Amino acid sequence: MKQRLLFLGPPGAGKGTQADRLCKKNNLLHLSTGDLLRSEVQAGTDLGQKAQTIMSKGGLVSDELVLSIVKNKLIGLDSGWLLDGFPRNVFQAQALEDLLVQVDQPIQLVVFLKIDDGLLIQRLLARGRDDDNEEVIRHRLEVYKNMTAPLVDHYRGKGLLKAISGSGTIDEISNRIQEILE
Ligand code: ADP
Repeated sequence: MKQRLLFLGPPGAGKGTQADRLCKKNNLLHLSTGDLLRSEVQAGTDLGQKAQTIMSKGGLVSDELVLSIVKNKLIGLDSGWLLDGFPRNVFQAQALEDLLVQVDQPIQLVVFLKIDDGLLIQRLLARGRDDDNEEVIRHRLEVYKNMTAPLVDHYRGKGLLKAISGSGTIDEISNRIQEILE
């Protein structure tokens, strides 16, 4: 089974939920930059303070900051992993690639969770996290379209991408993902 994975898709596509399940089932480390940043915010670290304002507005935290977090987690790791919420732009993707070449652990599969905007907004509003009000959601979707969506072609071009539908029940989606990992 594939051991080094990346989840790509808009906010609200269900990446976090699916990543949690998949990682528990298959013993992979779940690395969510959103979760890692939120823990920094909660712990009140310097890094968290820098990130907080940007996150509450739905913008992207600086590449440098996010990269340092991911690097610390990936270096020296001997289990498989799943990256969720990172990379979020082409620069981060390139930096990730450089890092993975250094540690000799290339990505084996990029799972793209596809879903339409109407459903996304519904799901995010229902979730009700701090950055889930309508205005901020619209901005996050805009940022996704401009900055992150180009990664779909980037990874497709490398032959790493598999797209699956993110609509349906949690179980249905988990099964779809499990099938493409074999
Ligand atoms: P969602 O699942 O709704 O996309 P996340 O939990 O992944 O949200 O991220 C929440 C916020 O954290 C983002 O809106 C952004 O401000 C920040 N963030 C998370 N990952 C990154 C990243 N790789 N680069 C820059 N900012 C990030």
